Amino acid sequence: MEIANRAKAIAPSLTLEITARAKKMKADGMKVVSFAAGEPDFNTPDYIMDAGREALDKGCTKYTPAAGTLNLRSAICEKLKNDNALDYEPSNIVVSNGAKHSLFNAFMAILDPGDEVIIPSPYWLSYPEIVKMAGGVPVFVQTKSENSFKITADELEHAITDKTKVFLLNNPNNPTGAVYTRSEINALAAAVEKHKMYVVSDEIYEKLTYERSHHSIAAYSDILKERTIVVNGLSKTYSMTGWRVGYAAANEKIASAMASMQSHSTSNVNSIAQYASAVALTDRLHGDAFLEGMKAAFDARRALMMLRLQRLGVEFIEPKGAFYIMMSVSRFFGKRYDGMRIRSAFDFASALLEHALVAVVPCESFGAPDYVRLSYAASEIDIERGINALSTFISQLKD
Ligand code: PMP
Ligand code: GLU
Repeated sequence: MEIANRAKAIAPSLTLEITARAKKMKADGMKVVSFAAGEPDFNTPDYIMDAGREALDKGCTKYTPAAGTLNLRSAICEKLKNDNALDYEPSNIVVSNGAKHSLFNAFMAILDPGDEVIIPSPYWLSYPEIVKMAGGVPVFVQTKSENSFKITADELEHAITDKTKVFLLNNPNNPTGAVYTRSEINALAAAVEKHKMYVVSDEIYEKLTYERSHHSIAAYSDILKERTIVVNGLSKTYSMTGWRVGYAAANEKIASAMASMQSHSTSNVNSIAQYASAVALTDRLHGDAFLEGMKAAFDARRALMMLRLQRLGVEFIEPKGAFYIMMSVSRFFGKRYDGMRIRSAFDFASALLEHALVAVVPCESFGAPDYVRLSYAASEIDIERGINALSTFISQLKD
């Protein structure tokens, strides 16, 4: 007996796999520096932890509506209004088990078999897998370095066919760190408006931008808002990756389709996490103070990692958002380390982890086979140590 073709077509999440491997090596006593992490290395702030305890004390331990408590959905509406100039009602909001689950629900709700989803490349590795699970066809558009790895309106229009159903925009982008300016967003939005298509806008790194601010494509016009599913979550903004709280905002038809599907799969998100998330979003005083500190730390680490990579003489993409730097490794292809020939980013990352105890993510499954991704969600000491080890490793590569 065989497993389903649907399941056969799906690759496991490499980011989660490598992060888990690095964590296990550390737990086994090895001095690994992990630049693999796709999560902030800060504790969830105390005011949110306290709210979690309060939820238990108050007995918030029962089922909630599948789409989330009214309290949390109202807090999300407030957030979207204040931060993104987007007016939604709680009936437009679906709270899910992380933004990943929101993306899954979104594509399940809008894709029919064979529908095309335009994905600018490089892209976060889960997108094509989620699109395929929902029966869709990922269509990749290679972004260019001269455009800072951002898709242009022309490139988008060029990729549109009569099968196009969705444009998937990840702003700020994982893994490139690209952040779109308002005029770039406006040009993309104008292109979308000309065609019958949806936008899925993944804004999970919204709060982590440096040098420029974030603009939601949904705020461009009422037409765009009606056609856009905004996806966001608490994981990155409040360092709550393990709590599993994400959300989507969409027109009522889509939101209720997403909620119905969720009501038959996972039901509501953990009630304690929902309670704490509402506090996370509404206590702006504590929230903004935490964010300010975390963002300043990431910005300093971004500068440090870029400086160290510059000195190393390697080519990399300068990020304006999120907490990743993509480093080109193609010039090392064909070289050997300890007899092992490096033929790919995957080989480079494997050898680096095994011999230099530095974990990075190879970017083949991000649509960027010449690159590895370094996360700077790591302490400055670890950044220094890790780049030193990387430097020694590179110097030991032989023709
Ligand atoms: N979108 C992007 C671009 C991401 O990098 C991640 C990483 N976790 C997610 C969505 C999902 O985050 P979560 O499920 O933890 O909310
Ligand atoms: N999104 C993060 C990353 O890209 C976390 C891991 C995951 O969910 O894939 O590393």
